[in-house]
Amino acid sequence: MSRLEIHDIFVIGGGINGCGIARDAVGRGYSVYLAEMNDLASGTSSYSTKLIHGGLRYLEHYEFRLVREALMEREVLWKNAPHIIWPMRFVLPYAKGLRPAWLIRLGLFLYDHIGGRKLLPPTRTLDMRSDAAGKPLKPMFSRAFEYSDGWVNDARLVVLNARDAADRGAVIRTRAKVTSARRDNGHWNIRVEDLRSGQIEEVKARLVVNAAGPWIDHVLTETVGQNNVHNVRLVQGSHIVVAKKFDDPRAYFFQNKDGRIIFAIPYEEDFTLIGTTDQDYEGDPHTARISQAEITYLCDAASEYFAEPVRPDDIVWTYSGVRPLYDDGASKAQEATRDYVLKADGGEGRAPIVNIFGGKITTYRRLAESMLDIIEKQLGKKGKAWTATAALPGGEFEATGFDAEVVKLKAVYPFLDMRLARRLTRLYGTRAKALLGLAKSDADLGRNFGADLYEAEVRYLVEKEWAVTSEDILWRRTKRGLKLGKEQAASLDEFLQGISPGLHNAAAE
Ligand SMILES: Cc1cc2nc3c(=O)[nH]c(=O)nc-3n(C[C@H](O)[C@H](O)[C@H](O)COP(=O)(O)OP(=O)(O)OC[C@H]3O[C@@H](n4cnc5c(N)ncnc54)[C@H](O)[C@@H]3O)c2cc1C
Repeated sequence: MSRLEIHDIFVIGGGINGCGIARDAVGRGYSVYLAEMNDLASGTSSYSTKLIHGGLRYLEHYEFRLVREALMEREVLWKNAPHIIWPMRFVLPYAKGLRPAWLIRLGLFLYDHIGGRKLLPPTRTLDMRSDAAGKPLKPMFSRAFEYSDGWVNDARLVVLNARDAADRGAVIRTRAKVTSARRDNGHWNIRVEDLRSGQIEEVKARLVVNAAGPWIDHVLTETVGQNNVHNVRLVQGSHIVVAKKFDDPRAYFFQNKDGRIIFAIPYEEDFTLIGTTDQDYEGDPHTARISQAEITYLCDAASEYFAEPVRPDDIVWTYSGVRPLYDDGASKAQEATRDYVLKADGGEGRAPIVNIFGGKITTYRRLAESMLDIIEKQLGKKGKAWTATAALPGGEFEATGFDAEVVKLKAVYPFLDMRLARRLTRLYGTRAKALLGLAKSDADLGRNFGADLYEAEVRYLVEKEWAVTSEDILWRRTKRGLKLGKEQAASLDEFLQGISPGLHNAAAE
């Protein structure tokens, strides 16, 4: 498309919502341009608890619409991306003095029955004195409930949506900040600054989607020029990662004395992920960091349950994200609605902007469909809804076929160590072959940057997935950062700088 032409849709923000909408829209025949000011998924979308879940505790706040929609999405998303999404069982130990057993049972009954569950196994009760799930816990927990939800590699879900959108013709720009958007004669004039070269691109579009997550109000005031904007409540959530606390593949759902809950989840094979906290936040979402009080809270809450306490010294990594919750006036952060709200402004001659408030990773695909309903009203209908049954890149295999996929990859590349074959299948699914090419031995994969991160993978991430820095690769496209030291990260950065900078955005074309 020439620069003078007008795009149908301009999306501000390359988190899960922006990328999900770009993919859905371009697949229906709209022309789409998406700009992300940093890396894809560098906002809230890589700092989640990584659950594809109905949200058991949202039932307590009567969020039935959200819970039902989210529950229904569990199997839809699992089938679309069985490499990066898989089922997980959660063990909820019953503790006296907290929520009564009948209430938990009622919640889990609804959970099992309102969400279109077909493949996921139902809830059951565990005797923790005999079940392996009781082993790492203190002996006082004799009973527990076990139920199903899903796990997602959140950062990769974002990138795969962007990849698919680009494959279908969307323009995806990263390190590209939208600095101004102004209405002009029935369309939008948008200025996009390439933060690496300083170049400004002027883009025209019929409709703007504001998917800036926690920056949404900032975009409305600073970029679109609106006054008195206060739509979102920023709520920080932090996680800690410690060396593996238990061997069981199941995760734990712990209730705390303050009425809140935390999860302890098997993570990246050798670790346990514990989170999250919930506290109001002010400031730039990119600079959110865990506080000492949050560290103490998470360690203490987990230590109420684990026989071996979790200490601050055990922590190997932490991360904090900022939820952009729709400000519904709730007094406590954990009570603010987790549902999404889409609000359109414009139409009838004034170019429309549609703002996204709130949302979950779990419901991103349904949010995109709701957004497309609004877009169709504004721009006219094109193709039909299509994403419910369309695999994301690399996910073109059976939902339950992950192990078979690893075997297939090993058959083509017998030299691959089993751990590496599993890791590559988890991240890239059927596209692992595109990354490995004609390799016949480890040596053909090029330089090893440490922990089996080979040059072939790095080049693939640069060429196909918009990776630019070591952080993009070590902490978002992969989690090799948990294994590599600072020096290894620095030598990866040096290598990346040696690759032609022009290559990076070529992934978008
Ligand atoms: C601690 C925590 C735990 C969570 N756990 C879960 C969970 O387990 N399951 C679940 O389903 N959901 C979970 N969520 C919710 C989920 O993570 C968010 O709802 C979702 O990631 C929001 O995505 P987004 O695309 O709206 O925002 P973001 O991911 O923040 O994306 C917005 C993007 O816009 C970009 N941007 C901003 N301004 C500009 C500009 N001017 N120009 C260009 N780009 C711009 C930013 O750089 C950013 O990348 C959790 C959230 C948090 C904080």
